[in-house]
Amino acid sequence: FSLRLTDRIGKKLGEGTYAIVYLGHFRDDPSSCVAIKKIKVNAEYKDGLTMDAIREVKYLQELSHRNVIALHDVFSSKDQNLNLVLEFLPGGDLEMLIKDGDIHYGVGDVKAWMGMLARGVWFCHENFVLHRDIKPNNLLIAADGEVKLADFGLARSFADPYLNMTHQVITRWYRPPELLFGAKQYSGAVDVWSMGMVFAELLLRVPLLAGMSDLDQISKICEAFGTPTEENWPGVTQLANYVADKAVPVQGRDFFLRQFPTAGPVGADLLMSMCVLDPRKRATALQVLQHKWWTTEPRPTKNEDLPRKS
Ligand code: ADP
Repeated sequence: FSLRLTDRIGKKLGEGTYAIVYLGHFRDDPSSCVAIKKIKVNAEYKDGLTMDAIREVKYLQELSHRNVIALHDVFSSKDQNLNLVLEFLPGGDLEMLIKDGDIHYGVGDVKAWMGMLARGVWFCHENFVLHRDIKPNNLLIAADGEVKLADFGLARSFADPYLNMTHQVITRWYRPPELLFGAKQYSGAVDVWSMGMVFAELLLRVPLLAGMSDLDQISKICEAFGTPTEENWPGVTQLANYVADKAVPVQGRDFFLRQFPTAGPVGADLLMSMCVLDPRKRATALQVLQHKWWTTEPRPTKNEDLPRKS
């Protein structure tokens, strides 16, 4: 692998929950940049993390799409860490834009960002890859404004969970009800739910359902969208962690329009289709892309006109 990289690993770009990210360069093109993500591997995998684990991650190398971060290479270093050589994305992430009060954006910008996200998710699903951890902080931005899906959960599953617990990022807020209820089998619908939560957050500029615990998350979902029952979701009561909160009726169009007036009726309809409790009735990524919101005014903002991190 390292034939393509310079021996010199560059400056530290940042540090996350379970990894440190460095700048790197291709040897044959020193002006090019890559991000080298060093993942501290869980002791459990220390011996086993050779070919099998790496093969799984390597599969991601074959996913090539404008809206999915490119994984150039994977290698395990002498210190037994897992190293991912990733596309360099210097534009920050969607969470930074949402939280930066100095940045003003409108529904055309939200439409552009959501379109890029939906195309990335659709492409992954077409290739039988689920992301499983979609949240604003995992949606990185390229120099040209393009949004890219990053941080696939697969690599994280090797990470040491006891490392840096205090920095644990709360991904619960974007988790769909089927995962909270402990479903063993799940589908691309998990990513569509998370995409819906990102859509809502882009519009509101605060997380829509910020649960304090998994139970609280379920209760917030029920309050917002309605309580899952056998009637609206056949089989749900059989799931391992099913709990019936107070019976709230399933919310209709008016609710979404009232909560998200800036999305307009067509946008509210799209958001509603992503927030359906029963994963089998939730929109698929393809249905999301085929929705008429994308061609309704205002049109998505062009990349060069999108707001950027300051
Ligand atoms: P987290 O998801 O907790 O922010 P990461 O380990 O994914 O942590 O990344 C840590 C930091 O490294 C990020 O906040 C970002 O500043 C930087 N970073 C990560 N990936 C890239 C990349 N592909 N290109 C440029 N910078 C990156």
